[in-house]
Amino acid sequence: MSFFDNLRDIYRKVSEVESAIYNGKQDYLEIYERNLELEKEIEERTKELNLANKRMLTLQHIWDMMNASRPLHSVLETIVNSIQGELGYLHCNIIKKCMDEKGIYLTVLAQSNDISIKRVEKLIKTPFQTRKLVYQEDSVYAKAAAEKIIMQTVDIGGTLKSVAPDVSDNIIDEIVEGSLSKSIITVPLYTRNQHYGWFNVFSSRNELTTGETDFLTTFAQQIEMAITIAGLFEEVKEQAVTDALTGLYNRRYFEEYLKKEVTRALRQQQPFSIIGLDLDHLKQINDKYGHAYGDLAIKTVADVLKKNARSIDTAARMGGEEFNVILPGVDSNGAMIAAERIRKTLEEQQLDTVGHITASIGVATFLEHSDNIEDILELTDQAMYQSKRNGRNRVTLAKPVTETSWQEVAINTFMDILSKHNIPLDKEISEKLKDKLQNPKDDIPKEALFTVADMLTQTYNPLHHQGVMKSKMLLAVSLAKRFDLSKDDIDKLRIAMLLYDIGNLMIPAELLQKTTPLTEEERNHIKEHPIIAAREILKPITYIQDIIPIIEHHHENWDGTGYPSKIAKEEIPMTSQIILIVDAYYALIEPRTYRAELTPKQAVEIIKQDAGKKWNSALVQEFISLIDHDI
Ligand code: GH3
Ligand code: MG
Repeated sequence: MSFFDNLRDIYRKVSEVESAIYNGKQDYLEIYERNLELEKEIEERTKELNLANKRMLTLQHIWDMMNASRPLHSVLETIVNSIQGELGYLHCNIIKKCMDEKGIYLTVLAQSNDISIKRVEKLIKTPFQTRKLVYQEDSVYAKAAAEKIIMQTVDIGGTLKSVAPDVSDNIIDEIVEGSLSKSIITVPLYTRNQHYGWFNVFSSRNELTTGETDFLTTFAQQIEMAITIAGLFEEVKEQAVTDALTGLYNRRYFEEYLKKEVTRALRQQQPFSIIGLDLDHLKQINDKYGHAYGDLAIKTVADVLKKNARSIDTAARMGGEEFNVILPGVDSNGAMIAAERIRKTLEEQQLDTVGHITASIGVATFLEHSDNIEDILELTDQAMYQSKRNGRNRVTLAKPVTETSWQEVAINTFMDILSKHNIPLDKEISEKLKDKLQNPKDDIPKEALFTVADMLTQTYNPLHHQGVMKSKMLLAVSLAKRFDLSKDDIDKLRIAMLLYDIGNLMIPAELLQKTTPLTEEERNHIKEHPIIAAREILKPITYIQDIIPIIEHHHENWDGTGYPSKIAKEEIPMTSQIILIVDAYYALIEPRTYRAELTPKQAVEIIKQDAGKKWNSALVQEFISLIDHDI
């Protein structure tokens, strides 16, 4: 690529970022205008550069560096290295003038990587780039900056001493004596009319010709340009409100815009809707055709959204394969029509190699489903998940926020776990369980829930009986009520009771059913792994995130000797403590491959022994009084 091609390339890149920012909406008009200014500025700089470059084609690599959008220090590093060795320059560096509460100081932004500097750094024992250098008003640097001229000094020792007064005179003498440098030439640097720092060369000669001055001036201009453009890039990047891959708005813009839309909707008492969309099976597309085709699928969704949105609709890529559209003034009927149109248009696209793609969509309407925007986003997400569960490539309208029962949450969770296929469960079994949850024959969803939980447990523990899950739950809830837990906490406990052992699904069956004693390693695996696995299995299910900590801590002991966090006493959620004791009791009264079951009386004796250690004594007391009639 020629120098000018490179230049055009940079300019094009800046324009791309810029044009991505373009936006008719008033809130961003300011940014737009600011960017026009930046663009003009870059244009001016570019012209200057063109001129300078007629004499300086050797500087091509600066622009290569810029094109590679490397960080500024690495660009500058390359620049100084490129001139070191030319014209008898033994060492080159770029120093920046900085300011803090104590005043002005200097830092080395870049320095050439040569033996002369290595020698000096060895003598002063610290690399220059990690040092805060001293700025002195009578130094050659201050003078060059004040008079805006290139200066040369043969007093290398004095200059060094001025920036690093802590270095002893002996060391300075040693540096000077062993140095081949005869002079330092310093060129003040300016960016956007502000003094920025200095470009210094350590020359093997003590004369400075006019030609050399011209050369260094031009060279310094290139440095100034690199610094200016890097700064502009940064500014433009920070202001970016769009996503590079799709050109849609990014999450940041979406969130800001949403806040305004909420205010407007509340003021005018007018609804707006959100369409949430997630591409179906993108992972498979990536795996099968490669990431580039995954990107193509994402771009296709973006194009469909752009095509189908009215001018006032705002479509954003929230990240990955997740998109949201805000439809101002549109109620749920209108939003459902729009969403269906998007779904259908997407389905009809014919992609190169990939063929057809689909998406699952959820719709929720502000002021209709809830007047809390957090809830609306959550509901959109839940509705989208419902679309996934029901077979993908469909649109689901959010359910209004009536309190969702814990049964519903639990059923949805099981459905999600079973449809994600990330647990090693036979497909047939998982279909059977899903069917049971969706069409409970006895019409009591709660019963179906227990049946499914029992069946899941049986897949890793064949000795587990049907009905145990329900008894455990009853015991846990009764215990929670004794401790005055809120309804909300009790509901969480119920869901956690159904899920706390789900991680066992990930442990190899032969390990769980081993009849001989376990090795230390095996025991640790069985101990810690289910908690990790449960977290992994439950992590993608957004609406039960507050259940995960309860599950995570259900092996913590009252005295802090449990796992995984070794927290103690009140630090352990009450719900986790309840799970631990109920779980322990049932483990004791159930048979195991390595021992027969104990009687309730024996089990209670064992539990009593650990009062104050494994569990809170008050909890043990309540527990015993509850199961008293069994004993
Ligand atoms: P589902 O239908 O359940 O949504 O399945 P899925 O495979 O689309 O969803 P999952 O959440 O399992 O995986 C999403 C994948 O999307 C994983 C991630 O690597 C991929 N992905 C996220 N962002 C991008 C991107 O920018 N480009 C590409 N090519 N892939 C991406
Ligand atoms: Mg997806």
